[in-house]
Amino acid sequence: QRQWDHDYYQLMEKTAQFYQQQLKQPKFRERVVTYLKDRGVSGEIARDYGLGYAPDEWHSLQALFGHDQSINKALVDCGMLIEKDSNRYDRFRDRLMFPIRDRRGRVIAFGGRVIDKGEPKYLNSPETEIFHKGQELYGLYEMRQFQRKSEWAVVVEGYMDVVALAQFGIRNAVATLGTATSSTHIQQLFRVCPKIVFCFDGDRAGRDAALRALNHSLPQVRDNRDIRFMFLPDGEDPDTQVRRIGAEQFTQDALKSPSIFEFLLDYLRGQVDMDTFEGPGQLANLAKPFLALIADAIHRERFIQQLAMQVGLSETKLNQLLLGADSSSG
Ligand code: ATP
Ligand code: MN
Ligand code: MN
Ligand code: MN
Repeated sequence: QRQWDHDYYQLMEKTAQFYQQQLKQPKFRERVVTYLKDRGVSGEIARDYGLGYAPDEWHSLQALFGHDQSINKALVDCGMLIEKDSNRYDRFRDRLMFPIRDRRGRVIAFGGRVIDKGEPKYLNSPETEIFHKGQELYGLYEMRQFQRKSEWAVVVEGYMDVVALAQFGIRNAVATLGTATSSTHIQQLFRVCPKIVFCFDGDRAGRDAALRALNHSLPQVRDNRDIRFMFLPDGEDPDTQVRRIGAEQFTQDALKSPSIFEFLLDYLRGQVDMDTFEGPGQLANLAKPFLALIADAIHRERFIQQLAMQVGLSETKLNQLLLGADSSSG
């Protein structure tokens, strides 16, 4: 088992290096490097993140690794080759490649983007023995290579967001890998910095992602931890936003974005009309499941106080409503 793991990591590393070399091949250079330049990615950042190119071929990895059966089988297990009717072929073809590294810097998976247009826009490695999506954060290793300890980290949706922010000197961005933010993600980040700013896209999907991140963050609220939610204008993502407003403004906005409790307060207030008869009861119903997630009693109490004040109820009244609230809603 362990021996196999070791081999997997070696295959993945060798593949990442191969993709990186392809980027420099004269026949691909123009198209792919032009694409990167158009998106404002410099050679230095491409190198730091190990960006590469998977050629538009069906058997480039078999050409690289040869026809040894056990290696080919391992490449299938790692998700690099697709096996179909006793044929094996490259999963990633004609894509800009983002190697995904684990905390120790080992390549465990790839994300691949089409150059310009095509479907699907992003293709990711499947779950494998060495890649568990819900547990990995793209860019965490690179962030720690740059700086062992940082003051804060920003969590974004996309590979390109991480790379674009790095390009602007914001080297503390990590991306969830097309999945929701998990508790493991948050725990990992709090091990390396005390402050997390979630910054998802200014679209419907981004706002849904923020709500899911809120749910996973509430149980992890503690003293000396700071969790914030940065909301971008409609249609912007961190990549476009940092290009629009620059690194200094982006950082400022991030650091003074709403705290987790301000976000929750705004969310709850936006969902109910307190001027109606049912308003207070609805608020209690809606708030209750969120409150139940706040494991830290002092922070929970403090939030209830704030909520009561903000909606114009006494704390006693709100607590009464909460006791009577239907905890299955929300
Ligand atoms: P770009 O700026 O390169 O167009 P993006 O990162 O802004 O891309 P989004 O559409 O906002 O792309 O998606 C955010 C992230 O979600 C992507 O980086 C990728 O990880 C994931 N993703 C998007 N589309 C897909 C897809 N079709 N399949 C799998 N993952 C996807
Ligand atoms: Mn989006
Ligand atoms: Mn984008
Ligand atoms: Mn986006």
